[in-house]
Amino acid sequence: MNYFSLNNREHKANFEHAVVRGLAPDKGLYFPEKIGKLPKSFFEQIGSLSKTEVAFEAIKNYVGEEIPEKRLKDILAHTLDFDFPVVPVEENISSLELFHGPTLAFKDVGARFMAGSLGYFVEKGKIEKLTVLVATSGDTGGAVANGFLGVEGIDVVILYPKGKVSEIQEKQLTTLGQNVTALEVNGAFDECQDMVKRAFLDDEIQQKRPLTSANSINVARWLPQMFYYFLAYRQLKDKGRKLVFSVPSGNFGNICAGILAKEMGLPIDHFVASNNANNVVTRYLTNGNYEPRNSVQTISNAMDVGNPSNFVRVLEIFENKFGNLKKHLSSYSFDDLATKMAIKEVHQKTGYTMDPHGAVGYLGLQEFLKHRQDYHGTFLETAHPVKFMETVESVIEQKVQIPAVIDSILDKKKKTHQISDYDELKNHLLQ
Ligand SMILES: *Cc1c(COP(=O)(O)O)cnc(C)c1O
Repeated sequence: MNYFSLNNREHKANFEHAVVRGLAPDKGLYFPEKIGKLPKSFFEQIGSLSKTEVAFEAIKNYVGEEIPEKRLKDILAHTLDFDFPVVPVEENISSLELFHGPTLAFKDVGARFMAGSLGYFVEKGKIEKLTVLVATSGDTGGAVANGFLGVEGIDVVILYPKGKVSEIQEKQLTTLGQNVTALEVNGAFDECQDMVKRAFLDDEIQQKRPLTSANSINVARWLPQMFYYFLAYRQLKDKGRKLVFSVPSGNFGNICAGILAKEMGLPIDHFVASNNANNVVTRYLTNGNYEPRNSVQTISNAMDVGNPSNFVRVLEIFENKFGNLKKHLSSYSFDDLATKMAIKEVHQKTGYTMDPHGAVGYLGLQEFLKHRQDYHGTFLETAHPVKFMETVESVIEQKVQIPAVIDSILDKKKKTHQISDYDELKNHLLQ
């Protein structure tokens, strides 16, 4: 399978090069040349296939010859080594819980798959020793650190803003050790991000210590996110209703993978992109003008994105036709007050606890279903409520139970290096 750059279709790369480079040299996002349809028989038999078999059928054409079948299946088995339950919440509404992985967020799936793929390329000597450098405002760092932990030949260096991530998130970054180093930056997330961008462009660093990134523009993080839509379909197909998925969206990688799955034949009728106050896509679908803005801070902070990087891929799937897009995608946006109200009401009515991101997804679904009786709706619960403990506990006026994986890291000792500017980052990387 070849990928082309969305900035220039002539620029092509195979899976391996697309993964190692992340972005094309012309700064375009990679996109698969062909979106193959899966046979009808696959969807008829999907209930009798294992998670690994489902994922293998879905991804094999996007990987091509670059990873042998046996190894790819091993990577998939490890990637999906936890549950993806669809939990009924209200009569026609379910929650697809994506928080049963090691860092309690859906990003575990993409991070693990990317780690498995890069790990294979290093092992085969196809690439040299690599350092994955990421800036995080919360969930990405933990998932990437955990996904790459112990992968031979790959170091992980994570920059996070001091005092600006939650205690649980900080522990997830700073207690792993081995090949993972956490750098605590005296500054905001934007400064972490700027330093990382500068390091990628620094020839001296790139020559002595080649760097790669692990954010959702990388095809190895983006594509595997389609798996859980297939796994959810297995649990929903007997509902006998049209299916709609509502995805709490920030950079639009997650929803774009779902839309790709639909394009491959997965019987999903419609998607809802649920936004917080950062609603560039909601406004675009309303008035046809795409106007990126600076992000504003909300309680669903993993979605505080002013210019979603994967939206160009969504447009590409719909052949850049606005009519096409509107037919298959709706978008609504909700402020923090509405989000808190939803957490409270659903908890009171049903006993189900949503995190702020899932709650935005729930609200979008509710809006879509208002005048549509013939659908079953599923919203994605993208993180465990315990990751946003302060907000959730103050709204539901109850304690959220801490899962065992988190409990065990809370006592571990944090290990970080403090840095304040780019030179300190550079020194650290070149040490
Ligand atoms: C990253 C993240 C999102 C946004 O996902 P995108 O793929 O960037 O749209 C939503 N919820 C949570 C909890 C996240 O960590």
